[in-house]
Amino acid sequence: MFDALARQPDDPLLALIGLFRKDERPGKVDLGVGVYRDETGRTPIFRAVKAAEQRLLETQDTKAYVGPEGDLVFLDHLWRLVGGDTVERNHVAGVQTPGGSGALRLAADLIYRMGGRKIWLGLPSWPNHAPVFKAAGLEIATYDFFDIPSQSVLFDNVVSALEGAAAGDAVLLHASCHNPTGGVLTEPQWMEIAALVAERGLLPLVDLAYQGFGRGLEQDVSGLRHLLTVVPEALVAVSCSKSFGLYRERTGAIFGVTPSTSSADTVRSNLAGLARTSYSMPPDHGAAVVRTILADPELARDWAEELEGMRLRMSGIRRALADGLRSRWQSLGAISTQEGMFSMLPLTEAEVMRLRTEHGIYMPGSGRINIAGLKTAEVADVIQKFTSL
Ligand code: PMP
Repeated sequence: MFDALARQPDDPLLALIGLFRKDERPGKVDLGVGVYRDETGRTPIFRAVKAAEQRLLETQDTKAYVGPEGDLVFLDHLWRLVGGDTVERNHVAGVQTPGGSGALRLAADLIYRMGGRKIWLGLPSWPNHAPVFKAAGLEIATYDFFDIPSQSVLFDNVVSALEGAAAGDAVLLHASCHNPTGGVLTEPQWMEIAALVAERGLLPLVDLAYQGFGRGLEQDVSGLRHLLTVVPEALVAVSCSKSFGLYRERTGAIFGVTPSTSSADTVRSNLAGLARTSYSMPPDHGAAVVRTILADPELARDWAEELEGMRLRMSGIRRALADGLRSRWQSLGAISTQEGMFSMLPLTEAEVMRLRTEHGIYMPGSGRINIAGLKTAEVADVIQKFTSL
């Protein structure tokens, strides 16, 4: 029976990690990886995470099942961090998921179950968006969101996509820190999107995977919060992988924002039911860590402070890169005002290959770079290698 299967291509980013490992040159630089790195090149465990884990180790007294909805206290705290008090709490249905990926998949399954068949996706986007939505049976309608040569968000395209969408279609939006472009939507643009989504009867699915990595914990959800005050219904997929450094613990949540308590209850029961038929229940540890941090003002303050340090490190690297690269590519001055871990460079595949083979600088063929893959001390050298292309 297995003969009926075709060999699937390897994930290109994982293959890149393998190539980087094998490279023995001392000055090699990995700009491909999708995790935060500090000035020593490590992906650190937050101090507050370590402290919370210690507490859990001492106090946890059972490993009995938690349930398909996950940890309700975690969900309460996480929702407060994301949604603040924009929506009445009992109108929000939350279900803990294995990471942001699990949240996106449950959201797509729910959309399909509701009879939604199409989701609008601006390109480029996180490469897993389309496959996850397709796997749930949704049809993908795409539009160009970002122009790489000019480094600009193509807002007119966003507007015409929303105007062309039919009532009941879903729309994927990045809350902030757009992956892979770093492209920013301004406040007036969020307001226009919110008005259009409401007017056209669309269902927004907002992907929030980098809260705190862009302009700050509150600012990174300000567009999303505005949207939630305008639209009657929305889905919000939250990943704790980056914001809490919990990547491998698979921690996240899907929130359905609804117009009533009874609607929230129905949405919650459907999300829980969908979880039950797929992975049954989410893993506990990461959510228990996030709950412990957010429930303790002292730990929460320390976590936010460490996160802010990471954000500031990335914006410093952004400014230095933008200053150095703008002499060769004027549009790359925009790197300093873009947000989050990623930007897309206007490089050909051949240039990406030359950087790899001649200089040991690794990035995927798309030209996406992870800003956090750079140490401050490496920036000048990397700029010199880029501008010598
Ligand atoms: N959305 C975006 C935009 C992402 O970049 C990622 C992770 N790279 C995710 C969702 C999923 O994150 P997780 O690891 O929590 O599944």
